[in-house]
Amino acid sequence: MIVVFLGPPGSGKGTQADILAVRYGFYHFDTGARLRTEIASGSELGQTIASFTDNGNLVPIEVIRELVMTFMRNTDSRRIMFDGFPRNLEQARVLDEGLEELGGDLDFALYLEISEDSLIDRIVNRRFCPECGEIYNLGSRPPRQPGRCDIDGAGLYQRSDDTEEVFGNRLKVYLEQTVPVLEYYKARQRLYKIDGDQDIEQVAEAVAGLIGLECNDSA
Ligand code: AMP
Repeated sequence: MIVVFLGPPGSGKGTQADILAVRYGFYHFDTGARLRTEIASGSELGQTIASFTDNGNLVPIEVIRELVMTFMRNTDSRRIMFDGFPRNLEQARVLDEGLEELGGDLDFALYLEISEDSLIDRIVNRRFCPECGEIYNLGSRPPRQPGRCDIDGAGLYQRSDDTEEVFGNRLKVYLEQTVPVLEYYKARQRLYKIDGDQDIEQVAEAVAGLIGLECNDSA
């Protein structure tokens, strides 16, 4: 089963993708995380990538195509979930190409719809654990001990693009470039809307209900 998560920055795609991975054995292809790993390596490619991500702009298609196609040619997962991809129509066509090579089809494009007001709050209050990847929100889901992960005690960090200034451009890019992708999947009867303003468990239940998975259903 192939699933993509769509929605503006801060809509909860990463959180829901993590849940699908843990509960149902999906392979979580997190485009942003892969790009951040390349940046952290200090490579020349990483520096080029950072010049786009620092401002909230999309990384060029050649970089994304290479990431996605390499993954798709080498994976043997039967359940794959793309988080943060595709982000424009050109990328949706790259996914189509990859799926054709795999001999598969996209099953669900899950669109997490959320009110614009909640987004900025979710983004600027978002914190991550560098060790286990757990996501917190200082307002709605704070860690028990300030600044420390509940799971492993590591110091939490804020992503450099999770600021009010960069968020404005990320949202603009989303509206201009990613919203047309919603139409693309709607026309192909693959688009399913989920109310992303609900709490995390309610959204997770809605996702599982839509794609027909039970908690103990193995991959
Ligand atoms: P995310 O972790 O999904 O919020 O992505 C963080 C940043 O990585 C985005 O603001 C973009 O600069 C870049 N990025 C992530 N996914 C893509 C993609 N599919 N295409 C181009 N750039 C991306």
